[in-house]
Amino acid sequence: MPTTASDAPAARAMRTAATVADVRRAVGEVRRGGARVGFVPTMGFLHEGHLRLVDAARHASDYVVMSIFVNPLQFGPTEDLARYPRDPEGDAAKAASRGVDLLFTPSVEEMYAANRAVSVTATGLDRRWEGEIRPGHFAGVLTVVCKLFNVVQPDVAVFGQKDFQQATLVRAMVRDLDVPLEILVAPIVREADGLAMSSRNVYLSPDERRRALSLSRALRAVTDAFDAGERSPVALVAAGRRVLDAESDVRVDYLAVVSPTTLEPVARAEAGAAALLAARVGATRLLDNAVLGEAWPAPTVP
Ligand code: AMP
Repeated sequence: MPTTASDAPAARAMRTAATVADVRRAVGEVRRGGARVGFVPTMGFLHEGHLRLVDAARHASDYVVMSIFVNPLQFGPTEDLARYPRDPEGDAAKAASRGVDLLFTPSVEEMYAANRAVSVTATGLDRRWEGEIRPGHFAGVLTVVCKLFNVVQPDVAVFGQKDFQQATLVRAMVRDLDVPLEILVAPIVREADGLAMSSRNVYLSPDERRRALSLSRALRAVTDAFDAGERSPVALVAAGRRVLDAESDVRVDYLAVVSPTTLEPVARAEAGAAALLAARVGATRLLDNAVLGEAWPAPTVP
């Protein structure tokens, strides 16, 4: 069993599991051997953003579990569940070559009993932004993440800053429900031209892909204005909106400067505040964000 994060990924053979019992068996074995367990939950169609979370998990643990599960509970009735991109073979190859030790790919039936009666819902932090636009989304996310935590029982779990509100809610769940693990949040991984990596980028036509660059450019305008000394959230948002409004067919759901802990809009922007952005480019909804006062592009995970 590998015990150090410096082991070459290729030297580690990846196991796969489709059932809760198999995950418990595999993780139980390595835990008895003293391994610290890291966990990266995903919905698959893996890209470099997901794989950097694996790097961070490897850095922070001895044995890395990744889950790939397109969670129906977090999709609204009119959302893209049925056509969400999937590539099981490609994902397994990427996960294995990046050093995942155990890949958990449960079916919907394995995860959810037909008579399930309990879910995890937020009592705050989900009122605005994604929570407002996608009712029920975060209950779906928190429920599946809580279940996955209970199945894998990791020591550390890694999430992406890309889904800022989600990471904030997961941290809050761990705190408020005394879940015994550590949460790490890894920076956003971007394409060379600035577009935040996302499984949903595959929906974009070449022209939409070009227009989607306005999201990162808008956030860049916000952080540039902040770096130049602007502290008014209204002025910062206006700097971003100018970029977005100049692009055709980019419909902004929200652009706001918020407290990183309460996710409420701030009266004055300070370093550490987050600019949260969601916009539709054609039929595709994209999320991006930037933390004010941090280097752009965001530094990568060690
Ligand atoms: P998903 O498969 O979209 O549910 O994402 C799984 C995890 O990967 C979540 O914690 C996301 O925040 C994270 N993630 C997705 N895209 C990126 C990205 N471009 N950079 C960093 N993390 C990401």
